[in-house]
Amino acid sequence: MIKRLVQKVQTLLVRGLTARARRQPKRIPRSEHGIARERVSRAALRVCETLQKAGFEAYIVGGAVRDLLLGHAPKDFDVATDATPEQVKSHFRRAIIIGRRFRLVHVIIGGETIEVSTFRALNDADRPTDEHGRVLADNVFGTQAEDAARRDFTVNALYYDPVTETVLDYHDGVRDLRRKRLRIIGDPETRYREDPVRMLRAVRFAAKLGFEIDAATREPIRRLAPLIENVPAARLFDEMLKLLVSGHAVACITRLRAEGLHHGLLPLLDVILEQPQGERFVMLALSRTDERVRAGKHVAPGFLFATLLWHEVLKRWNERLAAGEHRIPALDAAIEDVLEAQMEKLAIQRRYTADMREIWMLQPRFERRQGKAPYKLLEHLRLRAGFDFLQLRCAAEEAPAELCEWWTQFLHGDAAERERLIAAASATGGARRRRRGRGCKTEVASSGAAT
Ligand code: ATP
Ligand code: MG
Repeated sequence: MIKRLVQKVQTLLVRGLTARARRQPKRIPRSEHGIARERVSRAALRVCETLQKAGFEAYIVGGAVRDLLLGHAPKDFDVATDATPEQVKSHFRRAIIIGRRFRLVHVIIGGETIEVSTFRALNDADRPTDEHGRVLADNVFGTQAEDAARRDFTVNALYYDPVTETVLDYHDGVRDLRRKRLRIIGDPETRYREDPVRMLRAVRFAAKLGFEIDAATREPIRRLAPLIENVPAARLFDEMLKLLVSGHAVACITRLRAEGLHHGLLPLLDVILEQPQGERFVMLALSRTDERVRAGKHVAPGFLFATLLWHEVLKRWNERLAAGEHRIPALDAAIEDVLEAQMEKLAIQRRYTADMREIWMLQPRFERRQGKAPYKLLEHLRLRAGFDFLQLRCAAEEAPAELCEWWTQFLHGDAAERERLIAAASATGGARRRRRGRGCKTEVASSGAAT
């Protein structure tokens, strides 16, 4: 009985998939979609023209089409084609095949890189999955309709032919875009089980585009949120980074919490966000990041993750200090603890963890304002990042504003000014020490570093 029911559901699902994969697209002419061809990158145009001249289909696809339709400047341009990677490569002077699981071609034209992918199949029944339904291999070529059906959201499944200036729309993406609605293609639960990262993507796109998540698309998220834990750590890191540097990180994190997705996603972040002080620091850091991204400035991932995990470092540092450990070794060990706990779920790349460690280790050094110490710090390669971090701590009222002002003057001052600042700091620092008459352990707390 149950077996038959399961079979029936499976048949229905497969039929649904097949129907999805056989759809005919709506063809939307220039007069309706309004995309100005001048806004398409010249390199992407060249790639499409070249492949089409060689007898293949080639379209601009995904985020670029969505952004063009919304009147935003696309971040990058992807092309989808029925040519195989080898065929694509043979038509361009500078092209490399990348990726092992699903091979793509990077075509480089005039300093721009265009990612060209061959239409992918749905290949439903035979795809290997884990016990939760997560697809483990997904590497068979297919038709354009299949390629459209395996994309995540309707607004991400639009194809633009820059030669004829036609948009091909298989899943009413243009309608959803006009209604500002994020809708997943196919059965939401199945699609999240296949790839739980799509839940994060739903939140990211909704926050970034200011779209509403369609009710059916939204419903399973809270329930399926724990599936995020099965996603390989490196993949999670990539998606998390996209979210944090989207220019809408505050909106994304707020929404992640609203959907119950922050638990276990950025391990430790859930804990931090639940403490008022930690939340304040993280939100301030994220809003500054958003400002930078929107102003077109570079954001260093190491700095960003250093801000996200700072309060966890502080907590462990304080615990070690309370146990009587020395200040600097205690900080070093606290950092080790935090990074280790973090790496299990979110594989922050080595080069970023090196930056994070340096930024954190620099913090107590800003408190040493006497003798040669400030001059030594000037030579530190990471001084700028460390100082930016200090500024953030001061803005969050975790470190005294006076410390920031002192360092701003010291960094910009001439030799005489620097001597004067050191003398002034020695005078007040000396007085403070005499009053307390205690060792260096209290200095951590007094400076506000260990709140
Ligand atoms: P962005 O502007 O943030 O880069 P994007 O839509 O281009 O947005 P990408 O991550 O670059 O997002 O992915 C490119 C396209 O690949 C998407 O538009 C979507 O069609 C498809 N895609 C990406 N990730 C998935 C996924 N997990 N499941 C299904 N389709 C996906
Ligand atoms: Mg993209």
